[in-house]
Amino acid sequence: MAVEATQTRPGIEELLKRLANEKFNGKSPEWRKGGKWCDVQVSVAGDDKNWYYQHGNVIYVQAKSGPENQSPHCYGCGSKIELVGQRCSVHYSNMPLSGGGEVRTKIIPYCPNCESKPSESGFITE
Ligand SMILES: [Zn+2]
Repeated sequence: MAVEATQTRPGIEELLKRLANEKFNGKSPEWRKGGKWCDVQVSVAGDDKNWYYQHGNVIYVQAKSGPENQSPHCYGCGSKIELVGQRCSVHYSNMPLSGGGEVRTKIIPYCPNCESKPSESGFITE
């Protein structure tokens, strides 16, 4: 008999509070908005060891150096962050019907546990 577990993942408020307590001596870090990690917009904060990327309701942690540098993880659940190569066809906004067939690949990071997998295709309008 399966009982649907109401899994409450910590919300972003709670994660931010936890991050401040665990990594920044109880003070909230200064989040720099408009940063970029892979090809997504994130807010960035850092201490002497790690970079923290806030993306939606998830915080990714990436070590500044060492072997872990290669495997960023999710602050909330500890899962290894996965990357999706999103193939985007480019549309030109001044020529609505033209695509030109140009395709670029965006790299989208996500936590397989906290976020749904990003679509593998999309489009860019410029
Ligand atoms: Zn996660």
